[in-house]
Amino acid sequence: MKSDLVIVYHRQPYQEVEVDGRIELREHSSPNGIVPTMKGFFGKVQRGAWVAWKLAEDTGAPDFEPVIEVSDSFGTYDVSRLPLTEEQVKSFYHVTSKEAFWPILHGFKERYNYDPVDWSTFRSVNWAFAEAAAEQATDDAVIWVHDYNLWLVPGYLRQLKPNATIAFFHHTPFPGPDMFNVLPWRQEIVESLLQCDSVGFHIPRYAQNFAAVARSVRGVRLTEDMDTPAEMLQPGVALNDRIMPLKLEHAGRPVAVHTSPVGVNFDHVERLATTPEVTEKIDEIRGSLNGGKLILSVSRTDYTKGNIEQLEAFERLLERRPELHGMVRLMLVSVGANRNMTAYQEVQARIEELTGRINGAYGSFEWQPVALIGQAIPLADLVAYYAAADVASITPLADGLNLVASEFCAARREDTPGALILSEFAGCAVLLEGAIPVNPFSHASMDSALDQALAMEPVEAKARMAALRKSARRWDINTWTEAELAHFDALRASHRPAPVAAA
Ligand code: UDP
Repeated sequence: MKSDLVIVYHRQPYQEVEVDGRIELREHSSPNGIVPTMKGFFGKVQRGAWVAWKLAEDTGAPDFEPVIEVSDSFGTYDVSRLPLTEEQVKSFYHVTSKEAFWPILHGFKERYNYDPVDWSTFRSVNWAFAEAAAEQATDDAVIWVHDYNLWLVPGYLRQLKPNATIAFFHHTPFPGPDMFNVLPWRQEIVESLLQCDSVGFHIPRYAQNFAAVARSVRGVRLTEDMDTPAEMLQPGVALNDRIMPLKLEHAGRPVAVHTSPVGVNFDHVERLATTPEVTEKIDEIRGSLNGGKLILSVSRTDYTKGNIEQLEAFERLLERRPELHGMVRLMLVSVGANRNMTAYQEVQARIEELTGRINGAYGSFEWQPVALIGQAIPLADLVAYYAAADVASITPLADGLNLVASEFCAARREDTPGALILSEFAGCAVLLEGAIPVNPFSHASMDSALDQALAMEPVEAKARMAALRKSARRWDINTWTEAELAHFDALRASHRPAPVAAA
């Protein structure tokens, strides 16, 4: 059976768990997260399908089925599992996507690694994704492709399914031409994206950067734009862009440029924060602080996340303000996701070194200034830390959006105010009102943000938290889902031939 919505995303839409030597497919336990959010779209269409890769080593068994039907709390849908060898995964994902694309998307030219890229493997894996998606799709389906590791899929899909509605969503930042054009495959990537009916981004700045890249590489004109709505601009934030592009014209076809930030499941996080287990844990955490203050920072271990700069700022705080010794702790959750890659190993080693240096220089038996956590914390526990902390310090050097900052707001109560220090280079900085904006490239800015957060009077903190929670709720996952569905309807309607006027 063909589907009218096909989601193309590199990860499978469930967790594979081994039970008694057999693999069971398990639904994600938390409804918060991008996979459950995207599966929610299947409830809005007649039939849905999902295309992801699976290690070919696991698909060698004679009873392996490339396409399976899955029934879970989101309904019944098909999953097409594209068998890739370990070599293909390494080349297309770990090398081309993570070593070449990722640093450029986040503005780190010096980390860009061109040499090991095998472009023909990247092409062939993207072609295989396009074929698998085309196989699942009705002729006029919406095919929704996600993220930079699938950049060539839209161009191939247009050849295979000329009448489909093809939408692409970027979950990362998108840089301007000075940065993007470092990629020698820029013509091919941009040409593929221009075969979409819609190219999507979190915030206006990334959309503007894409329009500038399309102009630079293919001479594409912007034909429609609008003033950015006030609720997507925050005072003095570096990622602000006051004009939002809406449409490009390429080879006689319109291409929508769509801005719609993904959000968090605000209601779920808010509810979690009030469950008896979580409130008990909050009391436990607060009790362990002995009247001191807790600064919380949560992210993956990645050079884009600014964890090193965060530790350096905390070290300067202890150096500058001896009166805080014994009275303040930094809990740095830095979860290693790409353990086998040199760039991440280097960041991890530096984080461990700095943590050791700070704890060695300032710590005592009773007081350990930095608690470094390398294992992922389950959401319910994380919510307890969000709710118990005095300050959340989220200071990436570049970040597509950053969901942690919004989860922190959802977990707080207005009568127990806490401060949010937020990098002006995280996408959500243009959406969240009430944060203390910080420039993580500046010591002065990092230092004064920490001082301001630690000294904030309850009245000010309450007012800021009320504004933060309001804007995090405004941009939650329901807003994104509704905006995407309305956008698909509009794209489909523009595909239909205009009705013939009566004589
Ligand atoms: N997260 C988690 N446990 C951890 C650290 C993070 O569950 O120990 C989750 C967090 O709740 C958030 C996501 O991981 O939903 C991270 O999303 P974000 O957009 O902040 O960063 P990304 O890793 O996608 O760049």
